[in-house]
Formats: sequence, structure tokens, C-alpha cells
Amino acid sequence: MIDDFDGAEILHCPYCGRAQDTHEDDEISANCCLTECEHCGKSFWYSVDVTRAYWPRKDEKGDEE
Ligand SMILES: [Zn+2]
Repeated sequence: MIDDFDGAEILHCPYCGRAQDTHEDDEISANCCLTECEHCGKSFWYSVDVTRAYWPRKDEKGDEE
């Protein structure tokens, strides 16, 4: 049994270790979501951490002389 998961982009079942095909809304970070494994049917909790980066830039159009 695999019992040590690092954070990953794909959600794996902590019981059978298989990847879950369905996705929650990617925009939402959550500390506790209860889901049911698509493969073994066991319920497990998971957290998701969505990171976002903004790269602001000035709009230079019309600002040239
Ligand atoms: Zn499973």
C-alpha cells in the first residue's frame, strides 16, 4: 500500500493509488474535499492548492512621442 504522497497535479486515490480522471473546478483551492475513488469506491479526503501568478505590464500604446 502506498502511504506517502507528495503533492501532484493528478489526484491519486490513497487506497488503491490510481489516478482519478474527473477534476474539480481548477480555479478553486480547497483544504478539504471529500470524494469517492472511481476505481475502488472508497471515500477519501483531499486538499487542492491552486497557485496563480500575475505578470502585470503597462499598456504602452499611444504613449510614444
Ligand atoms: Zn481507490
